[in-house]
Amino acid sequence: MSTVAFIGLGNMGGPMALNLAKAGHSVTAFDLSDKALASVKAEGINTASSAQAAIEGVDAVISMLPAGQHVLSVYLDETKGILKSLPKGAMVLDCSTIDAESARELAAAGSELGIGVMDAPVSGGVAAAKAGTLSFMCGGEAEDFERARAILSGMGKNIFHAGDHGAGQVAKMCNNMLLAIHMIGTSEALQLGANNGLDPKVLSEIMLASSGRNWSLEVYNPYPGVQENSAASKGYQPGFMVDLMIKDLGLAMENSISSKSSVPLGSLARSLYTAHGLAGNGPKDFSSILNLFRTND
Ligand code: NAD
Repeated sequence: MSTVAFIGLGNMGGPMALNLAKAGHSVTAFDLSDKALASVKAEGINTASSAQAAIEGVDAVISMLPAGQHVLSVYLDETKGILKSLPKGAMVLDCSTIDAESARELAAAGSELGIGVMDAPVSGGVAAAKAGTLSFMCGGEAEDFERARAILSGMGKNIFHAGDHGAGQVAKMCNNMLLAIHMIGTSEALQLGANNGLDPKVLSEIMLASSGRNWSLEVYNPYPGVQENSAASKGYQPGFMVDLMIKDLGLAMENSISSKSSVPLGSLARSLYTAHGLAGNGPKDFSSILNLFRTND
């Protein structure tokens, strides 16, 4: 079992840190938010007053932060950055969804210090974070992957080695662009049915047994009342915020330019999510995109 510092205890990081501790690892957690810290402390997790204090004597650091700038600041900031203070032989597992370039920059800085760094973004959402059934998409060296797997298996069930540094982030970017597209498609199809007098629950059952079946429909239904515990049935409380989906679609769009890739539906999805966010929905769950189509039912 390992001694792990866990940095970033939001919607995802909080439950992930709890599962890691339940799996028998010794976890010390840090977040800038007192509320996030208090909620894991109440569950019996050790907390620290700074990222520096959290990394004392650790075998690994896991970070679950909003975006690339937060990750680079936590590890590489000239004064407060923790990478240079990590114990010899410790490794970094960054589970945040960030741009592949920043992931490679962090890995290169780690390599200069003899610290193994893996990008290890996740899929599955808050429900999977709580259940310990996340999928991890790892980018980095093969030998670091074997070490990483022993820790990540405390929080997830599918642990993939996507390739070299940054490859995990590329896999995640592709996945989330597709997620945005099928969440929007699922929303407009459900609303079209509702506008024609169909019960969205019955329509969902029909499409789940037909060729329209997809993850948004099955696991994360955007129509209120179809699934008892969905974000949609709880006033679109996140879950996965619209603002974070806009960030992820921005990463896909930037990458599509540099990699000369044609992504027409991803581009439309980014525009629709951006408009939805600008209308004041940024902090809501991303399945609230259904409200763009909700009309007269
Ligand atoms: P969140 O906003 O709920 O949590 C982020 C946490 O990081 C907050 O508690 C914040 O206080 C903390 N933080 C920010 N800067 C910090 C710093 N410098 N030091 C310490 N703590 C800091 O976000 P989330 O939903 O938990 O998402 C985290 C990451 O996981 C994002 O990159 C997101 O894209 C990705 N992700 C989210 C989901 C989801 O369903 N929510 C699913 C897969 C991936």
